[in-house]
Amino acid sequence: MIEQMVNRKPIQVGALVQMRKPHPCGGDRWLIYRVGADVGLRCQTCGKQVLLSRSAFHKQVKAWIDAAAVSSPGVRQHKGRG
Ligand SMILES: [Zn+2]
Repeated sequence: MIEQMVNRKPIQVGALVQMRKPHPCGGDRWLIYRVGADVGLRCQTCGKQVLLSRSAFHKQVKAWIDAAAVSSPGVRQHKGRG
């Protein structure tokens, strides 16, 4: 059985997405850190990690953020706790 997913971008580890509902911390950008039966997302603002099923992920995602567009010369790097 082949499922057609024409409207669905493949989920890739390392991709940044914007979700419809912002996190309680105020952030709406999430990094995909794992892809399996569930999709693992890490909040880029507070660092919290959550797992969503693939169908829930596709419902929640608002925009895919191009990594190339995100990186800027003045990027700040914080080394948080593990
Ligand atoms: Zn957060």
